[in-house]
Amino acid sequence: MEKGRARVVKVEQETGDIRSLTFEGFDEAFRNRSAGGFLSMKIMMDGQWSKPHPFTISCAPEDDLLRVTIKKAGPFTQRVHQLEPGEEVALAGPFGLFCKGADTLDNIVMIAGGVGITPFLSVLRHFRRAGIKKRALLIWSNRTLDDAFALDELKEITRELSVKVVHNLSREEKGSDMGRFEDSDFPGVKYEAGRCTRDVLKKHLDPAGVSVFLCGPPPMQDFILAELEAIGVDLKSVKKENFTWQGGK
Ligand SMILES: Cc1cc2nc3c(=O)[nH]c(=O)nc-3n(C[C@H](O)[C@H](O)[C@H](O)COP(=O)(O)OP(=O)(O)OC[C@H]3O[C@@H](n4cnc5c(N)ncnc54)[C@H](O)[C@@H]3O)c2cc1C
Repeated sequence: MEKGRARVVKVEQETGDIRSLTFEGFDEAFRNRSAGGFLSMKIMMDGQWSKPHPFTISCAPEDDLLRVTIKKAGPFTQRVHQLEPGEEVALAGPFGLFCKGADTLDNIVMIAGGVGITPFLSVLRHFRRAGIKKRALLIWSNRTLDDAFALDELKEITRELSVKVVHNLSREEKGSDMGRFEDSDFPGVKYEAGRCTRDVLKKHLDPAGVSVFLCGPPPMQDFILAELEAIGVDLKSVKKENFTWQGGK
Protein backbone atom coordinates (compact mmCIF):
# COMPACT_ATOMS: atom_id res chain seq x y z
CA MET A 1 0.00 0.00 0.00
CA GLU A 2 1.32 3.50 -0.83
CA LYS A 3 2.83 5.35 2.16
CA GLY A 4 0.28 7.43 4.02
CA ARG A 5 -2.67 5.39 2.71
CA ALA A 6 -4.91 2.82 4.40
CA ARG A 7 -7.85 0.68 3.33
CA VAL A 8 -11.27 0.42 4.99
CA VAL A 9 -11.87 -3.22 5.99
CA LYS A 10 -14.93 -2.91 8.21
CA VAL A 11 -17.79 -0.48 8.79
CA GLU A 12 -20.00 -0.72 11.91
CA GLN A 13 -23.08 1.39 12.59
CA GLU A 14 -22.88 2.22 16.32
CA THR A 15 -25.94 4.51 16.62
CA GLY A 16 -28.14 6.41 14.15
CA ASP A 17 -25.36 8.96 13.44
CA ILE A 18 -22.16 7.28 14.68
CA ARG A 19 -20.10 4.77 12.69
CA SER A 20 -16.84 2.97 13.35
CA LEU A 21 -14.40 2.32 10.52
CA THR A 22 -11.53 -0.17 10.73
CA PHE A 23 -8.42 0.22 8.55
CA GLU A 24 -5.55 -1.97 7.40
CA GLY A 25 -2.40 -1.19 5.43
CA PHE A 26 -1.56 1.99 7.41
CA ASP A 27 2.00 3.23 8.09
CA GLU A 28 4.16 1.40 10.66
CA ALA A 29 4.32 4.63 12.74
CA PHE A 30 0.80 3.80 14.02
CA ARG A 31 2.15 0.69 15.79
CA ASN A 32 3.83 3.05 18.26
CA ARG A 33 0.71 4.76 19.60
CA SER A 34 -0.67 5.34 23.08
CA ALA A 35 -4.28 5.06 24.21
CA GLY A 36 -6.46 8.09 23.46
CA GLY A 37 -4.29 9.48 20.64
CA PHE A 38 -5.64 10.66 17.31
CA LEU A 39 -4.95 10.58 13.58
CA SER A 40 -5.74 12.91 10.75
CA MET A 41 -7.70 11.59 7.82
CA LYS A 42 -8.22 12.70 4.23
CA ILE A 43 -10.72 11.13 1.87
CA MET A 44 -11.43 11.48 -1.83
CA MET A 45 -14.16 14.08 -2.35
CA ASP A 46 -15.21 15.26 -5.80
CA GLY A 47 -12.16 13.63 -7.38
CA GLN A 48 -9.51 15.14 -5.08
CA TRP A 49 -8.10 14.57 -1.61
CA SER A 50 -10.00 16.50 1.06
CA LYS A 51 -8.48 18.60 3.83
CA PRO A 52 -7.32 16.53 6.83
CA HIS A 53 -9.75 16.05 9.73
CA PRO A 54 -8.74 14.76 13.20
CA PHE A 55 -10.27 11.62 14.76
CA THR A 56 -9.36 9.72 17.92
CA ILE A 57 -8.14 6.16 17.45
CA SER A 58 -10.86 4.36 19.39
CA CYS A 59 -9.25 0.90 19.61
CA ALA A 60 -6.46 -0.23 21.95
CA PRO A 61 -2.82 0.43 21.05
CA GLU A 62 -2.38 -3.35 21.21
CA ASP A 63 -4.93 -3.96 18.43
CA ASP A 64 -3.55 -4.98 15.02
CA LEU A 65 -5.89 -2.76 13.02
CA LEU A 66 -6.83 0.90 13.44
CA ARG A 67 -10.35 1.94 14.31
CA VAL A 68 -12.04 5.34 14.41
CA THR A 69 -15.56 6.12 15.58
CA ILE A 70 -17.11 9.09 13.81
CA LYS A 71 -20.24 11.15 14.30
CA LYS A 72 -21.91 12.52 11.19
CA ALA A 73 -21.74 16.35 11.16
CA GLY A 74 -20.83 18.39 8.05
CA PRO A 75 -20.14 17.37 4.43
CA PHE A 76 -16.85 15.61 5.26
CA THR A 77 -18.24 13.22 7.85
CA GLN A 78 -21.33 12.64 5.70
CA ARG A 79 -19.01 11.36 2.98
CA VAL A 80 -17.07 9.33 5.60
CA HIS A 81 -20.34 7.60 6.48
CA GLN A 82 -20.63 6.49 2.84
CA LEU A 83 -17.19 4.80 2.79
CA GLU A 84 -17.31 1.08 2.14
CA PRO A 85 -14.84 -1.77 2.69
CA GLY A 86 -12.12 -1.67 0.02
CA GLU A 87 -12.03 2.13 -0.31
CA GLU A 88 -8.79 3.99 0.45
CA VAL A 89 -8.18 6.92 2.79
CA ALA A 90 -5.03 8.91 3.65
CA LEU A 91 -3.97 8.74 7.31
CA ALA A 92 -1.30 10.67 9.24
CA GLY A 93 -0.32 10.18 12.87
CA PRO A 94 -0.43 9.10 15.58
CA PHE A 95 -0.79 12.44 17.38
CA GLY A 96 -1.89 13.63 20.83
CA LEU A 97 -0.96 13.21 24.46
CA PHE A 98 -4.43 13.54 26.05
CA CYS A 99 -4.55 10.23 27.99
CA LYS A 100 -0.84 9.42 27.88
CA GLY A 101 0.24 7.93 31.21
CA ALA A 102 -3.34 7.13 32.30
CA ASP A 103 -2.29 3.55 32.97
CA THR A 104 0.14 4.69 35.68
CA LEU A 105 -2.52 6.61 37.65
CA ASP A 106 -4.88 5.35 40.30
CA ASN A 107 -8.37 6.84 40.78
CA ILE A 108 -8.87 7.96 37.19
CA VAL A 109 -12.16 9.61 36.34
CA MET A 110 -13.09 9.88 32.67
CA ILE A 111 -16.05 12.10 31.84
CA ALA A 112 -17.41 11.99 28.29
CA GLY A 113 -20.20 13.70 26.40
CA GLY A 114 -21.55 11.80 23.35
CA VAL A 115 -18.87 10.84 20.82
CA GLY A 116 -16.32 12.32 23.27
CA ILE A 117 -16.22 8.74 24.60
CA THR A 118 -13.68 7.71 21.91
CA PRO A 119 -10.42 8.41 23.83
CA PHE A 120 -11.84 6.63 26.87
CA LEU A 121 -12.90 3.59 24.85
CA SER A 122 -9.30 3.45 23.70
CA VAL A 123 -8.02 3.67 27.30
CA LEU A 124 -10.44 1.01 28.59
CA ARG A 125 -9.72 -1.30 25.64
CA HIS A 126 -6.02 -0.82 26.43
CA PHE A 127 -6.62 -1.66 30.12
CA ARG A 128 -8.45 -4.80 29.05
CA ARG A 129 -5.83 -5.91 26.50
CA ALA A 130 -2.98 -5.21 28.93
CA GLY A 131 -4.80 -6.53 32.05
CA ILE A 132 -4.43 -3.18 33.87
CA LYS A 133 -6.61 -3.07 36.99
CA LYS A 134 -6.25 0.55 38.09
CA ARG A 135 -9.30 2.03 39.79
CA ALA A 136 -11.24 3.95 37.13
CA LEU A 137 -14.64 5.60 36.80
CA LEU A 138 -16.26 6.41 33.46
CA ILE A 139 -19.16 8.86 33.45
CA TRP A 140 -20.74 9.02 29.99
CA SER A 141 -23.44 11.59 29.26
CA ASN A 142 -25.87 10.99 26.43
CA ARG A 143 -29.41 12.14 25.81
CA THR A 144 -30.78 8.59 25.95
CA LEU A 145 -29.32 5.10 26.24
CA ASP A 146 -30.00 4.64 22.49
CA ASP A 147 -27.36 7.34 21.85
CA ALA A 148 -24.72 5.22 23.62
CA PHE A 149 -22.96 2.19 22.12
CA ALA A 150 -20.44 -0.52 23.10
CA LEU A 151 -22.79 -1.17 26.03
CA ASP A 152 -22.08 -4.91 26.35
CA GLU A 153 -18.35 -4.34 26.05
CA LEU A 154 -18.45 -1.75 28.84
CA LYS A 155 -20.44 -4.14 31.01
CA GLU A 156 -17.79 -6.84 30.55
CA ILE A 157 -15.05 -4.33 31.35
CA THR A 158 -16.68 -3.53 34.71
CA ARG A 159 -16.67 -7.23 35.51
CA GLU A 160 -13.06 -7.87 34.46
CA LEU A 161 -11.33 -4.69 35.69
CA SER A 162 -11.64 -2.20 38.58
CA VAL A 163 -13.84 0.01 36.46
CA LYS A 164 -17.23 1.52 37.26
CA VAL A 165 -19.40 2.96 34.47
CA VAL A 166 -22.11 5.57 35.02
CA HIS A 167 -24.49 6.31 32.15
CA ASN A 168 -25.81 9.82 32.63
CA LEU A 169 -28.96 10.20 30.53
CA SER A 170 -29.88 13.85 30.19
CA ARG A 171 -33.31 13.31 28.55
CA GLU A 172 -34.47 11.18 31.49
CA GLU A 173 -36.47 13.16 34.07
CA LYS A 174 -34.89 13.42 37.52
CA GLY A 175 -36.68 10.88 39.71
CA SER A 176 -37.66 8.61 36.80
CA ASP A 177 -37.21 4.87 37.28
CA MET A 178 -33.59 4.24 36.26
CA GLY A 179 -33.82 0.79 37.83
CA ARG A 180 -35.34 -0.43 34.54
CA PHE A 181 -31.88 -0.22 32.95
CA GLU A 182 -30.03 -1.99 35.78
CA ASP A 183 -28.73 -5.52 35.30
CA SER A 184 -27.94 -7.41 38.52
CA ASP A 185 -25.19 -9.33 36.67
CA PHE A 186 -23.33 -6.04 36.21
CA PRO A 187 -23.52 -4.03 39.46
CA GLY A 188 -20.60 -1.87 38.26
CA VAL A 189 -22.83 -0.19 35.66
CA LYS A 190 -25.05 2.59 37.04
CA TYR A 191 -27.64 4.89 35.47
CA GLU A 192 -28.38 8.51 36.42
CA ALA A 193 -31.13 10.81 35.11
CA GLY A 194 -30.73 14.45 34.09
CA ARG A 195 -27.54 16.48 33.75
CA CYS A 196 -24.22 15.45 35.22
CA THR A 197 -24.54 17.69 38.27
CA ARG A 198 -22.43 17.95 41.41
CA ASP A 199 -24.85 15.49 43.09
CA VAL A 200 -24.09 12.81 40.49
CA LEU A 201 -20.36 13.52 40.66
CA LYS A 202 -20.36 13.51 44.47
CA LYS A 203 -22.22 10.19 44.56
CA HIS A 204 -19.73 8.33 42.36
CA LEU A 205 -16.40 10.15 42.47
CA ASP A 206 -13.76 10.06 45.21
CA PRO A 207 -12.00 13.46 45.03
CA ALA A 208 -8.93 12.26 46.99
CA GLY A 209 -5.98 11.98 44.59
CA VAL A 210 -8.24 11.98 41.57
CA SER A 211 -7.05 12.53 37.98
CA VAL A 212 -9.90 13.69 35.76
CA PHE A 213 -10.03 13.44 31.95
CA LEU A 214 -12.83 15.35 30.26
CA CYS A 215 -13.94 15.13 26.63
CA GLY A 216 -17.15 16.56 25.27
CA PRO A 217 -18.70 19.66 23.70
CA PRO A 218 -17.31 22.96 25.13
CA PRO A 219 -20.58 23.96 26.94
CA MET A 220 -20.67 20.56 28.64
CA GLN A 221 -17.01 20.91 29.63
CA ASP A 222 -17.64 24.34 31.20
CA PHE A 223 -20.62 22.98 33.15
CA ILE A 224 -18.69 19.92 34.40
CA LEU A 225 -15.67 21.99 35.44
CA ALA A 226 -17.88 24.21 37.62
CA GLU A 227 -19.56 21.18 39.16
CA LEU A 228 -16.20 19.46 39.81
CA GLU A 229 -14.89 22.58 41.52
CA ALA A 230 -18.05 22.74 43.65
CA ILE A 231 -17.34 19.27 45.06
CA GLY A 232 -13.72 20.13 45.86
CA VAL A 233 -11.84 18.74 42.86
CA ASP A 234 -8.69 20.76 42.14
CA LEU A 235 -9.12 21.84 38.50
CA LYS A 236 -5.35 21.44 38.03
CA SER A 237 -6.03 17.67 38.12
CA VAL A 238 -8.36 17.92 35.10
CA LYS A 239 -7.12 17.28 31.53
CA LYS A 240 -9.42 18.25 28.65
CA GLU A 241 -9.69 17.26 25.00
CA ASN A 242 -11.59 19.55 22.71
CA PHE A 243 -13.12 18.02 19.58
CA THR A 244 -13.77 21.45 18.10
CA TRP A 245 -12.85 21.45 14.44
CA GLN A 246 -12.19 24.78 12.74
CA GLY A 247 -11.02 23.31 9.43
CA GLY A 248 -7.54 22.29 8.25
CA LYS A 249 -5.18 22.94 5.34
C1 LIG B 1 -8.18 15.85 18.66
C2 LIG B 1 -9.56 15.62 18.05
C3 LIG B 1 -10.12 14.36 18.10
C4 LIG B 1 -11.40 14.14 17.54
N1 LIG B 1 -11.93 12.89 17.62
C5 LIG B 1 -13.16 12.67 17.10
C6 LIG B 1 -13.75 11.37 17.18
O1 LIG B 1 -13.19 10.42 17.71
N2 LIG B 1 -15.00 11.22 16.64
C7 LIG B 1 -15.67 12.27 16.05
O2 LIG B 1 -16.80 12.06 15.57
N3 LIG B 1 -15.15 13.50 15.98
C8 LIG B 1 -13.90 13.72 16.49
N4 LIG B 1 -13.36 14.96 16.38
C9 LIG B 1 -14.13 16.04 15.74
C10 LIG B 1 -14.03 15.91 14.23
O3 LIG B 1 -12.71 16.16 13.79
C11 LIG B 1 -14.96 16.92 13.55
O4 LIG B 1 -16.26 16.79 14.07
C12 LIG B 1 -15.02 16.66 12.08
O5 LIG B 1 -13.74 16.75 11.51
C13 LIG B 1 -15.93 17.69 11.44
O6 LIG B 1 -16.40 17.07 10.29
P1 LIG B 1 -17.41 17.80 9.33
O7 LIG B 1 -18.00 16.75 8.48
O8 LIG B 1 -18.34 18.67 10.10
O9 LIG B 1 -16.34 18.67 8.55
P2 LIG B 1 -16.56 19.66 7.35
O10 LIG B 1 -17.48 19.03 6.35
O11 LIG B 1 -15.21 20.09 6.86
O12 LIG B 1 -17.27 20.84 8.08
C14 LIG B 1 -16.62 21.61 9.08
C15 LIG B 1 -17.63 22.52 9.77
O13 LIG B 1 -18.14 23.47 8.89
C16 LIG B 1 -19.50 23.23 8.69
N5 LIG B 1 -19.67 23.23 7.25
C17 LIG B 1 -18.80 22.77 6.34
N6 LIG B 1 -19.28 22.95 5.13
C18 LIG B 1 -20.48 23.51 5.28
C19 LIG B 1 -21.44 23.92 4.38
N7 LIG B 1 -21.29 23.77 3.08
N8 LIG B 1 -22.57 24.46 4.89
C20 LIG B 1 -22.73 24.61 6.19
N9 LIG B 1 -21.83 24.24 7.11
C21 LIG B 1 -20.72 23.71 6.63
C22 LIG B 1 -19.83 21.86 9.23
O14 LIG B 1 -21.15 21.76 9.71
C23 LIG B 1 -18.83 21.75 10.31
O15 LIG B 1 -19.29 22.36 11.48
C24 LIG B 1 -12.08 15.21 16.93
C25 LIG B 1 -11.50 16.47 16.88
C26 LIG B 1 -10.26 16.68 17.43
C27 LIG B 1 -9.65 18.07 17.36
